[in-house]
Amino acid sequence: MHIAVITLFPAYFEGPLAVGTVARAVAAGVLDVELVALREYGVGNHRQVDDAPFGGGAGMVLMAGPLTDAVEGREDSHRVLLTPAGHRLDQATLDHWATLDSLTLVCGRYEGVDERFTEASIDEEVSLGDYVLAGGEAAAVSVIEGVARLLPGVLGNPASIEIESFRDGLLEEPQYTRPAVFRDRPVPPVLLSGDHGRIAAWRAEQRIERTRSRRPDLLGEYPPRH
Ligand code: SAH
Repeated sequence: MHIAVITLFPAYFEGPLAVGTVARAVAAGVLDVELVALREYGVGNHRQVDDAPFGGGAGMVLMAGPLTDAVEGREDSHRVLLTPAGHRLDQATLDHWATLDSLTLVCGRYEGVDERFTEASIDEEVSLGDYVLAGGEAAAVSVIEGVARLLPGVLGNPASIEIESFRDGLLEEPQYTRPAVFRDRPVPPVLLSGDHGRIAAWRAEQRIERTRSRRPDLLGEYPPRH
């Protein structure tokens, strides 16, 4: 899979691309990330990419021209703008994107991007959540990481993808590892019972209980749509 990232700050991605799951996906050849420096598409000697907003107001807006030039020729790629005004990113969206050949992630900065660029050149607008970041880069890293771990052969144990939070519309059950007692806190005894049927039933019950107490909004979608 090819992911192009349009950004004013390509250096932002050096760390995230170099470690863990994403680095493994790149090394395995199932993921290829292309960093596109928006500055190179800037206008004039100063490579200007932003300007003051029409109608007045604080801050600067990324101009439609450089952004449009940067995504030109990428019409076959699914072009995504990271913006707080988009629909909230979720697992179903990542599952779908992981099946695509090509994704283009556009990172805004400052006050955002000229709306005419979005109208003409963006296929989908996505938000990381109901809060404001300084730029789309952190959101793009989230997308890259969320997609990379779904690509074939990247995770050692594909079962960990099948049973995890959101996959069945529920949060995951609590997890425990050694030691069996940590500072007077024992793990739930059922997990030491060796009885796989009881363990599975306990886990299922925990998933529902946790979701009910922490994220009742998710239960509105249970059983899942997919
Ligand atoms: N003035 C804008 C915020 C701009 S923040 C507003 O009020 O909506 C600058 C850039 O950061 C945005 O263009 C976007 O690319 C990115 N960004 C900020 N918050 C984000 C979020 N929750 N999800 C995805 N991208 C976000």
